[in-house]
Parts: sequence; structure tokens; C-alpha cells
Amino acid sequence: MHMPIKKVTPETEYAEIAGWVHEVRDLGGLLFFLIRDRTGILQVTAPKKKVNPAVLDVLKRISRESVVRIRGRVIAIDKAPGGRELVPDEVEILNQCETPLLLDVVEKVPAELDTRLDARFMDIRKPRITSVFLIRSEVIKAIHQFLFSRDFIHITSPKIVAAATEGGTELFPIAYFEKEAFLSQSPQLYKQMMMAAGFEKVFEIGPIFRAEEHNTTKHLNEATSIDVEVSFADHEDVMRLLEDLIVEVYTQVSNRCSEALETLSINELIIPRTPFPRITYQNAIDIAARKTKENIPFGDDIGTTAEKAIGEEMGEHYFIIDWPTVIKPYYAMPHLDSPELCRAFDLMHPRMELASGAQRVHIHELLIEQIRSKGLQPENFEFYLTPFRYGMPPHAGWGLGAERLVMTMIDLTNIREAILFPRDRHRLVP
Ligand code: ATP
Ligand code: MG
Repeated sequence: MHMPIKKVTPETEYAEIAGWVHEVRDLGGLLFFLIRDRTGILQVTAPKKKVNPAVLDVLKRISRESVVRIRGRVIAIDKAPGGRELVPDEVEILNQCETPLLLDVVEKVPAELDTRLDARFMDIRKPRITSVFLIRSEVIKAIHQFLFSRDFIHITSPKIVAAATEGGTELFPIAYFEKEAFLSQSPQLYKQMMMAAGFEKVFEIGPIFRAEEHNTTKHLNEATSIDVEVSFADHEDVMRLLEDLIVEVYTQVSNRCSEALETLSINELIIPRTPFPRITYQNAIDIAARKTKENIPFGDDIGTTAEKAIGEEMGEHYFIIDWPTVIKPYYAMPHLDSPELCRAFDLMHPRMELASGAQRVHIHELLIEQIRSKGLQPENFEFYLTPFRYGMPPHAGWGLGAERLVMTMIDLTNIREAILFPRDRHRLVP
């Protein structure tokens, strides 16, 4: 087995590495290579007079981005990356790479996002892009660890469904034998049914599909949702859970991803502090009116311009609470004393919305009434409504977008950068 490049040090003395040829240079008396694996880059130099002629022959044939295995002596050298280099004794080309390359992996020649996504496998070889996905992996791991340590049960809900969660506009219809079905836009109804099943605390990290028509830098047609539902909890309980989770994720990424952060030129990841400020929907639209000179009528959604203006004023993660019942889904619990407002919240990063959640309606009659008031037919939700007649506990939960979390954490400009193979209006391949 070869050794990860990061672990090759002058104390190693002898090492076998395997990886991609990042750079090749012929410096006259010296052949010079940088070999890359996901842990880093190692300099390999072969003085032409000193290495075995058979090895030299192989070395001369190596093109950039070929896959090689090299064995040799490790020596300390000040000028080299990581203060060490490898002098080869044995070299094997495992796979020769064609030229010209689809993309410049050393990033001397910039490429458009579209070109990069067309050759995504090669784009990801760039240390900066690898770093994004090492961090994303750590984010998902930290969330699992955080929720398992709090006794959550991981669930997997169906992605082929018969009914919309909230009405039909954002659904992708699919042919399902003789019936029409849809790709799931959210695990909402299923995670709530798991409350009736008695699981008490569930989470799911999985795909959601939304036929968003517009091309924006914060929407995907296939995104990853981190969903949580908790019984015997209200909106405030799950807001605290959410802010604790955000802090934990930032802390773990900060602790475990220092090299990836450095590669992305992030010297220090600022860890948000709890409790996050809470402002009401009314406060939010007042701020927007003051800063943008445009009034949002009470009951209208907060658009992108307003969202940015409010975010600028807040300057950190914050919650918007006390939303008008009319703009939140039927499953959000209205306030008892003022039913025109509900127990829903959005978690905001200064740049955009990260999560939406609420205490849910657990009372059957009220739920039916709310479904009707949204112009939907309760008959279409039979499977979902039945559990509410047979012992549904009070419960609350939220859905958090994984790509938006990663994107805002490491300051990516486009959400497509936070997912391996983005699906958008125009992109279905690769
Ligand atoms: P927005 O208003 O920003 O489009 P939303 O309110 O429609 O989002 P929700 O249904 O509240 O989205 O979904 C919960 C979270 O899932 C969002 O806060 C967001 O982080 C994420 N999310 C939803 N839709 C998308 C999407 N199309 N692409 C990426 N992430 C999404
Ligand atoms: Mg939302």
C-alpha cells in the first residue's frame, strides 16, 4: 500500500506514493515533478545522471495528470513544499493522461464555471475544489455526530411520491407505471408521520427535488436537505437545536479542516455565537423598508433584495420569527392568541435563507381547516392526515439546505460550487 503524500516526511526515509502528476518540468540535468493526492503535493526530483536509466526512460514519458506510483528516498529540503522531496528509485505509470488537458488543474488558466462543470472530475482535482468537498464531507459528518449524540434516529423517506407537500408548482412529475408520481420536494410529511410512529427524534439527510424555474446562484433543482423533526417540542426548542448544530458544525470544520481552509485562503473560520438574534417578520420588513425604500406589504414574502438588506443590517446568523400564517405552509402552528401569526421561523445567514422550520399543527381539525384555507384538498393528503386521528404528539422541526450551509460557511459565490454535479435548468449532464 502506498503512503498518503501528507504523511511523507524526511523521517520516513523511504516511501511509496501514488497519485496524479500535477506538474512536470525538465530543468536540463534534472527532471522535476509535483505529485498530488487528496492530502497534498510532494516534490519529486530525478537528477538525470544519478537515476537508473530505465527509471529515467519512464520518467521522461510521463505527461501531466497521469497516474503514477513512485518509490524512493525522502530527503529534507528547505525550498520544497512541506520541506521534503522524493528521489525516485522505481516508477510505474499506472495510467497515462491524454493531452491537451480538458482543464488546467494548476489553475494558471482560469476557466468558466460551465467549462469546469463539463469536466467536473478534473475540476475537482484542483486542490481548492477538493478542499470544498473535504469540508462538505466534514459538515455532513459533524451533523451526523451531533444528532446521534442527542439520540436522533436516522430515517430514509421515499423520494417517489404521489402528492405534493405544499401544492404543486415546484414538482417534477415522473411516469410511474400507469400512474403519475412526483420526485419528493421535501421529507416533510414523512418525518411528521414518524412522530405518530413514536420515533420522537428523527433526522434525514437526503435529496430534495424542486422544479425551480429561475436560474439563481442559490437554487438547485436537486439539493440536499438536512431535515429534523422532534416530538414534545415547540418552535423554540428546535430553534435552539438548530443554532447549536450550526455552531457545532463550524467548530468541527474549524478543528478538523485547517488545511482545506488554508487552501481556500480562509485564515480563520469565525464561529457564530449563540443565541442567534431573533427578529420578528414585522421587524424584518421594517428594516427592509428603511434600507431599500420599498415597502413589503404584510403577508408578502421577503424577496432577495430585502433579504440582502436585512442581512447587511444584522451582520450575523439570525432568526426571523412570528411569520404571517398566510405565507407559511398549512402545517405551521398558528399562535394561540394571534392566529394571523404562526410559530414558524427562518434561519438566515446575512447572505440568504439557510433553513425554515416551525412548530407543527398536530390537531386534526385545525390541520384540515388550514389545508382548505390554502386552497388544497384534504382528500389528497389522506395518508398524511390519518395519523393525526390516532395519537399524534405535538412536534416541531426544520429543514436546512446543505449546499447553502457549505456555501455561506466558506463564502462560495455560486451554490453550484457546493455540490459535485449540479442540476439546474440547463444542466443534466454529467
Ligand atoms: P427560498 O425561498 O430561498 O427558495 P424556500 O423557503 O423555498 O427557499 P424551504 O422549502 O423553506 O425553501 O426549504 C428549506 C431549506 O432548503 C431552504 O432554507 C434552503 O436552505 C434549502 N432549499 C430549498 N430549496 C432549495 C433549492 N432549490 N436549492 C437549494 N437549496 C434549497
Ligand atoms: Mg423557506
